[in-house]
Amino acid sequence: MRKMAEGVYQIEVPMRHNPLGYTYSYLLRDAATLIDTGVGTRDAFDSLEEQARTAGMELTDIKRIIPTHLHGDHIGLVDTVRRLSGAKVYAHRTAIERQQESHARDVDMYSETRNETKLLGGSKYLDFLRRFESSFRGRMRSMDIDEPLEDGQILELEGSTLKVYWTPGHAREHICLHDEEKRILYAGDHVLPKITPHVSLRSHLEGDPLGDYIESLEKLRGLDVETVLPAHQYVFKDLNGRISEMHLHHKSRCEEMKKAIGDGRSTVFEISAQVSWDSRPWPEMEFWTKRMAARETLAHLVYLRNRGELDEEVIKGVLYYSLT
Ligand SMILES: [Zn+2]
Repeated sequence: MRKMAEGVYQIEVPMRHNPLGYTYSYLLRDAATLIDTGVGTRDAFDSLEEQARTAGMELTDIKRIIPTHLHGDHIGLVDTVRRLSGAKVYAHRTAIERQQESHARDVDMYSETRNETKLLGGSKYLDFLRRFESSFRGRMRSMDIDEPLEDGQILELEGSTLKVYWTPGHAREHICLHDEEKRILYAGDHVLPKITPHVSLRSHLEGDPLGDYIESLEKLRGLDVETVLPAHQYVFKDLNGRISEMHLHHKSRCEEMKKAIGDGRSTVFEISAQVSWDSRPWPEMEFWTKRMAARETLAHLVYLRNRGELDEEVIKGVLYYSLT
């Protein structure tokens, strides 16, 4: 636990089997509010409870939980803390829509994954995928949301006034919270100091998440912020500098992909194989990582297509991209 400002504490919630190591939950003590909770494990719970106590707060006294978005390492303990404390959950309005959609969409995840893998040009992995058929059962767990938030909304809490910034991209429902008086930005996964958040597109979804992401980045430029409090890695200061770096990162990745396509036409997997990924080279990636990388590639290709730089066509169930 580290004190970040008067009444603001950073809690490091451990996350095993994940290279990021932990998620930061932020406790606003006077408002008895948690921003993000970490993963839903026993370990994580014990750690959150102990560090909150050190900051002078019992989890049973929490009044509000504000997840920045619906990923498991942010909402994992929401239900547990709510059950203990009766806290109200605040999240962006689209979080509710997302949960309803995923409930209404009673689809077979296995065939959806097969179709997507084929569409993206990964047919050679279909036999491998069949071995995991049974692990595709089960659905997205849903979480009750009491207070839907709107972009620009002001939350007048005890000891902190927070302005909601809707920042879709990494997740459609992602929000950042700005405390103008303390000059703090609670950034969730939207702006991280060293890595770029995963921005990807699932082939069954419409939309332009990379376009959204870049727009959401620019939305924060020029905010009066002294300290950025992210959900992973470390606290940093230069928000505008980091926004520019990430903007450039995506621009150069787009160029890299266009170069990979060259004069021909390529599948998403083929293009992904030529990208200089930060984690490890494509041939060393497991199928599951390749699939994530391919979805990230797709987000870039759709961004370029929407801006008239690429043509897209589907031939025998496989997507192909070429330069316009
Ligand atoms: Zn996330």
